[in-house]
Amino acid sequence: MKIVTIVAVLLGTAAALGQGTMDRVAEEYVKLVLAVGQHDTDYVDAYYGPPEWRKAAESAKVPLADLGKRAADLTATLDKEPPPGDELARLRLQYLKRQVASASARIRMLGGERLSFDDEAKALYDAVAPSLPESHFVEVLAQLEKRFPGEGSLVDRYDTWRRSFVIPKEKLDQVFKTAIAACRERTLQHLTLPAEESFTVEYVTGKSWSGYNWYQGGYRSLIQVNTDLPVYIDRAIDLACHEGYPGHHVYNALLEKHLVKDRGWKEFTVYPLFSPQSLIAEGTANYGIAVAFPGGERVAYERKVLFPAAGLDPARAAEYYEVQSLVEKLAYAGNEAARRYLNKEIDAAQAAAWLEKYALMPRARAEQRVRFFDQYRSYVINYNLGKDMVAKYIEGKAGKDAKKRWQEFGQLVSSPRLPSGLR
Ligand SMILES: [Zn+2]
Repeated sequence: MKIVTIVAVLLGTAAALGQGTMDRVAEEYVKLVLAVGQHDTDYVDAYYGPPEWRKAAESAKVPLADLGKRAADLTATLDKEPPPGDELARLRLQYLKRQVASASARIRMLGGERLSFDDEAKALYDAVAPSLPESHFVEVLAQLEKRFPGEGSLVDRYDTWRRSFVIPKEKLDQVFKTAIAACRERTLQHLTLPAEESFTVEYVTGKSWSGYNWYQGGYRSLIQVNTDLPVYIDRAIDLACHEGYPGHHVYNALLEKHLVKDRGWKEFTVYPLFSPQSLIAEGTANYGIAVAFPGGERVAYERKVLFPAAGLDPARAAEYYEVQSLVEKLAYAGNEAARRYLNKEIDAAQAAAWLEKYALMPRARAEQRVRFFDQYRSYVINYNLGKDMVAKYIEGKAGKDAKKRWQEFGQLVSSPRLPSGLR
């Protein structure tokens, strides 16, 4: 323990003497995030900086009030910093300011402060999801009613139809690996990844999420797939692109390469989950699917490769994705359920019922989603709002040009751009 403390003190002194303000703040920010992680086990999503910093954080649980003070001091220092001329350095300053402000909000929340859903989203993720009226969902549901006429609830009819598109458990690994290889191949045609990049896939149960990428540093990821519930065929490309290529694995690897290795920006060695970085991470991971498979390429690929690999009828691929594109229009129903639930306007059972009715989630999936709300709260906006914000940003710059979209995508996932910087 003593040696660890001495090392930490020496590192601190060297930093104070030799580096610029931004580098000093970056180091303090990393240590702050690690210290907050001692109060919140979900907070530090990835860390691959100096192991001594983590050990130092683990050796003492610093009281939340002291962490709040440290965050305020960092904000005061950053506010005095003149905006740099270089664009990337300017983005870095903005990034540190927002990330520190977000950490400060999380510290207050851990201390018991309750924010409304939208205030929390703004404070943690630098964005607020639009509120959609029930009529929006009712309209989409009416179209689905026409597609699935009959007795009983729509969610049951939809679920029954969808059962013929489940990937059999014994084929899951092969289908998933095939999808990852396809996503990787497409990504490598447009983006240069570090040669050492690699990942491992694991199958797990008992989680509130369906897939997770745990970035380990050194361009490696551990991707976990939750098999609690049936895995439908669309999840293969979704997970392979979202968790892997060009999603989370690529995002983390490119930040490590361009910002940590090439520039020495230590703040990117830590990834606080409840922070603006997550909207960019989830948004690019979701939008990356359309970048990797533009237009009709996805259905064509699934018909030719994935449906046969999963033992499903390839002639039904187009039918499946026609329905899915309608169901996707219900994505914001999840935000509405979370907003009402976390604002305590409805309870857990009512939130699950809302998801069944407006998001067409069968009961078990709706209940899993409410557990996700409990654990991750307003994080839910990062998926759909994040995707829409990233899509608007990239398409605004690249239009319909598939190659240019890749270029803009590559730049976005290699730079410290924030949600408010996408507008
Ligand atoms: Zn994700």
